[in-house]
Amino acid sequence: MSKKATKGQIGVTTENIFPVIKQFLYSDHEIFLREIVANAVDATEKLKALASSGEFKGDLGEPKVVVELDEKKKILKVSDSGIGMTAEEVDRYINQIAFSSAGEFLEKYKDQIGSIIGHFGLGFYSAFMVSKKVSIDTLSWKEGSTAVRWTCDGSPEYEMGESDRKERGTTITLWLDDDSAEYAEKSRIEGLLGKYCKFMPVPIIFGKEQEWKDGKYVDTDKDKVINSVEPLWTKAPSELKEEDYKAFYKALYPMNEEPLFHIHLNVDYPFNLTGILYFPKIKERVAIDRNKISLYCNRMFVTDHVDNIVPDFMTLLHGVIDSPDIPLNVSRSYLQSDENVKKISTYITKKVADRLEEIFKDERPELEKKWDNLKLFIEYGMLSDEKFCDRAMKFALLKNTDGKYFSFDEYKAAVEGQQTDKDKKIVCLYATSVEDQYRFIEDAKDKGYDVLLFDCELDAHYVNLLERKLEGCRFARVDSDSVDRLIPKEDRVKLEMGEDARYDLENLFKAVLPEGNDYYVEGDNLGENEPAILITQNEFMRRYREMSALGGGMNFYGEMPKSYNITVNMENPLVARVLEGKPSGDVKSDEHKAEIKAFAEGNEILRQIVDIALLANGMLKGKALSDFIARSRKVVSDAYLKKD
Ligand code: ADP
Repeated sequence: MSKKATKGQIGVTTENIFPVIKQFLYSDHEIFLREIVANAVDATEKLKALASSGEFKGDLGEPKVVVELDEKKKILKVSDSGIGMTAEEVDRYINQIAFSSAGEFLEKYKDQIGSIIGHFGLGFYSAFMVSKKVSIDTLSWKEGSTAVRWTCDGSPEYEMGESDRKERGTTITLWLDDDSAEYAEKSRIEGLLGKYCKFMPVPIIFGKEQEWKDGKYVDTDKDKVINSVEPLWTKAPSELKEEDYKAFYKALYPMNEEPLFHIHLNVDYPFNLTGILYFPKIKERVAIDRNKISLYCNRMFVTDHVDNIVPDFMTLLHGVIDSPDIPLNVSRSYLQSDENVKKISTYITKKVADRLEEIFKDERPELEKKWDNLKLFIEYGMLSDEKFCDRAMKFALLKNTDGKYFSFDEYKAAVEGQQTDKDKKIVCLYATSVEDQYRFIEDAKDKGYDVLLFDCELDAHYVNLLERKLEGCRFARVDSDSVDRLIPKEDRVKLEMGEDARYDLENLFKAVLPEGNDYYVEGDNLGENEPAILITQNEFMRRYREMSALGGGMNFYGEMPKSYNITVNMENPLVARVLEGKPSGDVKSDEHKAEIKAFAEGNEILRQIVDIALLANGMLKGKALSDFIARSRKVVSDAYLKKD
């Protein structure tokens, strides 16, 4: 109760700053609780410091901060037994400094109010974002102090007088606004304390632990401590074991699978930063959890949007970063251009690369075991961050279709002998699916070639990147050409075929190939015992299509029909037979083209050999497939019964 109350005018020129604070901090009202609790923690820590320096000789008691909520009356209290404030200090810190700095703050940022998204310490005054009235009851640690009571209803007028408080410390009482009624709910306050205060250094108490009794939960006498998990990142890595890191991860993300690896960050020059980052298991891009890195400032939660502080690909990591050197009271666009933030970003990228290189050197079997779940992160990093890419060239792995892993250097050395083409380029063959490209993979392996597996969503872009980065290497998907032509060893003499003859051949085959694709048909001698037709997809056309499908800006290619190369093996006896009966005439005339079309459509053997080739490429579907089956039955029974 205020006795000899004095009235005063707070030193702000703005008629009433609180509605302004309220309005532009609208999205972030909830931080008031963090600010008030952080002040209480500070006051407690300051008293501890005074005790250890010998200035304070009294009883510290059991330092704690107690948060109490009266849901009915909508009153929230935060109490500490810290240093407290004398009347003179309340006047200095609350009436003058804080108010004037809030005024300055508004003055400074009024032009960019719209672009500011929270997170600056407006400190004590943020209480007015959610309250119609706020009071401070405080008793300083200094001997002979009298307790002070300060109240303010949100107008620039305050009342200050004596309080009947007996214990050292401070209680801040908030009479919650009707439009902030959400903060009068226990679950909401509990959630906020968990979010913002989980790692603060003084026990924070809210309510009692509960137990199950007679069919319901009831309070026990035991205080419920919000911040019971230790902030592991503040410890020295040498004191910690693998289990500690895993347990901490579990405490942070109870629903997640175990992480793959961790990195302990610890630097104090030229900026101060600590933290622990985890590589989560990543299987698919769609399933990626972003915003799982929490940013702290001296153990006080600030945000889990670190996208302006770390490079984009790093946001796939989980964990905590704690730095007092990241400016909090600025807009996001400013954050990106801040020199300290840039240094921090570079540092984190470097640390992540260092750690991966260390794992590559010292824990190679572990790396291989976990590679498939790590790959997407590394590929994304390499594609989006030049510096990281250069580092990753040393530790990134390639996996072949037999499940064997290689570093880039190891791979080059392994295939150099067999897979160097006539232009002295090492040709790296790859498949995107062992199932779909089975036959091509087997053909290549029979030839003594190795086939890599690139089955990750980013691989279309990744292959291009590797081709740029790996000197003297070229990449070709196994089904992009016949095995002989994939890695040409000498200049091969192609079959001489005039353009008219090729055009005629193209019309013949197009008549029986599925519609909707582009085909380039040509004849070649592939050998008597080789299949009649080979269907391949031009490496570059296919790659561009895939990249634009992933979103690479090259939409022109994305909209193009799929294009295939059809190589007709002129040495195959079946082909020779079919061509023998082909009508002749002026290849460009419509009449002849119609004749060719009718001939092709009526030729069961032609249809059969085309369909077999389509089937081999997994391209025979629906009606075409069922027609093929029916025709095959007939062809088989005709052949068999005729023989008899
Ligand atoms: P900041 O904490 O950034 O200095 P605030 O507006 O939050 O700004 O607080 C202003 C000052 O009021 C603090 O620096 C501190 O001296 C004093 N203060 C606030 N809360 C407490 C408290 N619970 N106990 C003691 N002093 C406090």
